[in-house]
Amino acid sequence: QPGMVIVGAGEAGARAAFALREKGWAGAITLIGDEVHAPYERPPLSKATLLDEAGPSPRYIVAEERFEAEAITHLAKRSVVAIDRDQRLVRLDDGNALAYDKLLLATGAAPRRLPLAGANRPGCVTLRRFEDALHLRERFRPGAEIAIIGGGFIGLELAASARQRGAAVTIIEALPRLLSRGVPADIAEVVQERHRAAGCALLCGEGIAAIEEEPDGLAVRLTSGKLVLADLVVLGVGASPSTALAEAAGLAVDNGIAVDARLRTSDEAIFAAGDCCSFPLPVYGGRRVRLESWRNAQEQGAHAASAMLGEDIAFDAVPWFWSDQYDLSLQVAGLVDEGRHTIRRDGAEGSFILCHLDEDGRLVAASGIGPGNTIARDIRLCEMLIAKRAHPDRGRLADPNTRLK
Ligand code: FAD
Repeated sequence: QPGMVIVGAGEAGARAAFALREKGWAGAITLIGDEVHAPYERPPLSKATLLDEAGPSPRYIVAEERFEAEAITHLAKRSVVAIDRDQRLVRLDDGNALAYDKLLLATGAAPRRLPLAGANRPGCVTLRRFEDALHLRERFRPGAEIAIIGGGFIGLELAASARQRGAAVTIIEALPRLLSRGVPADIAEVVQERHRAAGCALLCGEGIAAIEEEPDGLAVRLTSGKLVLADLVVLGVGASPSTALAEAAGLAVDNGIAVDARLRTSDEAIFAAGDCCSFPLPVYGGRRVRLESWRNAQEQGAHAASAMLGEDIAFDAVPWFWSDQYDLSLQVAGLVDEGRHTIRRDGAEGSFILCHLDEDGRLVAASGIGPGNTIARDIRLCEMLIAKRAHPDRGRLADPNTRLK
């Protein structure tokens, strides 16, 4: 009896499986994933998993016993190798095939590698899975020299964790500043200063020429000719959406598996959610984006479940992302590049929020940074204003005494 089949047992896939049951689907649900673990959270992998004193274990998205209780079949250590759209079935790497009524692709993304000599050497690693984090945890120790290539979120979170574990860290970024994608310069500057204060060496505007073998480790050769010696090189140069299955099946792909507002692919029995898909954002007039963010994967998983059950509702969310480095928490709601004007709103303990307005004065994004939870509430309120397409008064927005609520 065909049922609901989900490929990819990560954030989006797991949320979709349980949402299908919650929304009343009584038939079979099969969640297929190529990892050994039950679905687990990835955000801790660059933070708590590396820093916690106790021996780490994956932080599961749902308690393992709930799979049985909800009659959801989780096939671990299984890859889907092909989709047969005519017969509506997926083929597995063990030779079996599984028929579907509706199929969800929640295949996520995979770390990019550098097309460079030496970038595949054993001491040159990436982070996506729990096992990757365990390996980093072992290597981040006092006296170790860690080179991090890429000053984006993952690279910087790893830099913070490596420093906190006592390793020496060099961050190498090709562009003139850190976090150039999606984060305003004022906020990136605070991050940069915090890493400097923690003792990281920062090399911005430096390209990588090659990764070379040295007698006791590796050396990153920069295009400027400089050489950075390291015991371990971590590549934090972004991730590519896992679209190979969809492409081979002839589904439309456009910077990710292309879905419509209902998260449906170019085949009406197949949906996609999370890091692997690109989708239109109603809040920005249908602009097509692909997000790599925890909350998006969660919300799209649940939304895809509704869509698979036939509900006709557009996915209409405001993008939201956070990153924790040292004692600092950074958050971005909305897409910063939609704004032309920024207004600064100061908060407690040196924290601040930037409100980004478009030329009509509409609030289109908000970004902020500060210790602990100092910005969370205001960002949340800004997010609600963004969703409402609000045009707030600039003077009042800047005034920290104005309550956004
Ligand atoms: P994934 O969680 O990647 O799950 C996809 C799964 O599908 C994987 O297990 C993959 O192996 C499997 N798969 C792929 N192809 C197949 C196949 N053919 N057959 C079977 N299985 C397959 N977001 C934030 O907002 N804040 C953060 O602080 C933050 N920190 C992060 C830190 C790290 C180290 C990482 C890696 C991500 C972080 N994220 C963060 C992003 C967030 O974790 C992701 O956006 C989210 O996990 C995406 O969920 P997903 O279900 O789309 O993909």
